[in-house]
Parts: sequence; C-alpha cells; structure tokens
Amino acid sequence: MSNIEVLIKALPKVEQHIHIVGATRPDTLLWLVEEGGLKRPFKTVKDVRRYFRYNDFPHFINVYKTVFKCITREDQFERITYEMLEDDARCNVRYVEASFSAPDHVRQGLDYPLLLDAINRGVSQAQRDFNILCNLRIDLVRNYGPNMAMQVLDWIEEKRENVVSVDIGGSEERFPPKPFGRVYQRAREMGLHLVAHAGEAAGPESIWDAINYLNVEHIGHGVTAKQSPKLVSHLLQQGIVLEMCPTSNVKTGAVASLSRHPIRELFEKGVTVTVNTDDPSMFNTSMDNEYLQLHRHLGFTVPELFQLTVSALDSSFMGETQKTQMRESFVKDYQQLMDNGHEH
Ligand SMILES: [Zn+2]
Repeated sequence: MSNIEVLIKALPKVEQHIHIVGATRPDTLLWLVEEGGLKRPFKTVKDVRRYFRYNDFPHFINVYKTVFKCITREDQFERITYEMLEDDARCNVRYVEASFSAPDHVRQGLDYPLLLDAINRGVSQAQRDFNILCNLRIDLVRNYGPNMAMQVLDWIEEKRENVVSVDIGGSEERFPPKPFGRVYQRAREMGLHLVAHAGEAAGPESIWDAINYLNVEHIGHGVTAKQSPKLVSHLLQQGIVLEMCPTSNVKTGAVASLSRHPIRELFEKGVTVTVNTDDPSMFNTSMDNEYLQLHRHLGFTVPELFQLTVSALDSSFMGETQKTQMRESFVKDYQQLMDNGHEH
C-alpha cells in the first residue's frame, strides 16, 4: 500500500448512505441462493461480479430486485448486516446509518418485526466485535406508492428499535416525491428524520420537490443539483446535506466519470456533502476506496477527506452526546495520524 492508502485507511469515517441488501457479499449471495433452493444466473463469485455490471440506472434497479429476492428467511439478515458492518469497520468506519427497504421483504412474505430483530442482532454483534455503531433508516420504496408507505409507518410505530429516519429509494424518474407529502409529514410527527433519494436519475426539479413537498434534511445523491445555481445556494442556506456516492454514480451512468463528479465543486462552494458507498458489494467499492478515488480523481487532500468525515458525523442522526464524544476521538486520532510524520 502507498503512503496515501495507509493514511486513508487510518482515517476515522462515518457512512450515512448504505443499503443493507446492496452490501451482501458475493459468497453470501451464493449462500442465500443455496439456502432458498433458488435458480439464479450466477453460480460462482466470479459470475456474481460479472452480473453486477449495469448498462444504466433501470438495469441496476432490476439487478437489485433479483438480489433482494434471494433473501427467503428473516434471520438471513443477521449475517448480511454483521458482514456489512465488518466490511465498514475494516475501513475504520465507526458509525453507520444503514438503509433497510422493509416493504420489499414484507411483500415477499417476510415479517417486519422478525426482520428488524435479525438486523439488530447483526448490529449488536458487530458493535461487540468491531466497536462500530449503527442506526437504521427505513426505505419506504417509492415504487409501491404512498399508501404502502403509510403502512410501513404503522409498522415502525409498532417497532422501531434503532430506526432514526425514513427515506424513499427506487425509480425516481417514474415516482416523483409530491404524492409522499403526507407520509413525510406523519414521519416527522413520529420524530423520525427525513431523507429522500433525488437528483440521481432525475434532474434538479426532483431535488426541489423533495425539499418543498417532503421537507427533507438530507438528499440521497443529488448529483444534478449542480445544474441549478439557485438550488445550490438554497442547499447552502438551508444546510441541506447531499449524501453522495461517487462510484455508484459512475457505475449506474448518473455521471460520466469520477473526475467529472460534482462532489468537488459542491464541496468548494460550501455545501455539506458526505461520501458513501451506497451498495458496496453491488458496486465493488468500500469507504476506503471512495476516499481514495476522491483523492486520485478530484484532488481531495487528507485534511479535506477528514473534513468530509467530520461533516458526515455532524450531519448524522446520532444523538448529540454520543456525537460530541465521537468527534473528540476523531480529532485526537487525526492529530496523532498527522503527528506521526506522515505527509499528504
Ligand atoms: Zn441509495
């Protein structure tokens, strides 16, 4: 490993935008297929890697569907969640907000309380083994419409251990935010934080809609924000966070290449941006790799990468006391790293 890779590995990190299903390791996916007695177009890890290549965003969504349908029992989520956090911990990620698309699995006949229990067992075990903390976000999945989303809020009302926010992922070009206004209003009244995927496969108007109709605090992706200077200054003034996922965006074709990713420009303008893997297994990436790519293709220095870490912690939905403690330990680790004679 080069000096910069060693430094990046040692930097403390926070991940805000990761889908549990998209973190399923290839060999674990094969295990799921075998356990479920399923037929899938992949038999080896190499096949899976080849299968995880996308022509465009709709193609990616289709592959994602094939993957989530491989989960046939609630308890399988324990292993998937544990391994997701093990992989993040290897990159020195100390806190994760992981997204769980509950309606996908309940519609497959699985039980929400059992699913949440399995995920939380994975979370607790990973915390004991790797000292990594994790809260959950429930993705209401826009494709099922606002009535289904309301039902998901009923489930959360019944059981919400570690659930800190809602989100809507899925096909944003076909399912715009506006009809979810009442759902988000209710989620807010329930004390949940509000996030929506927007401006990934659709233009800046989808980001405006998520802000105006859903009152979101964070936008998932928001790559097209850059097209509208008025929107950029609004994000800046309102302190709305863009959870950016550079490798994901290149692999789904949302941006042409890493060097043309808008994260650098938005960062320089002072917009709060964070860097995330989205679906690390499906995009063959990791938090270390995301930081490294930002350094290589967009000139992010180590102090700038640490700034991204601090932004991600400060804008996360972790409790304030815990946040303050974690920030102190991050600053200490960072100073030690810099004092150790490493140059960036
Ligand atoms: Zn996402």
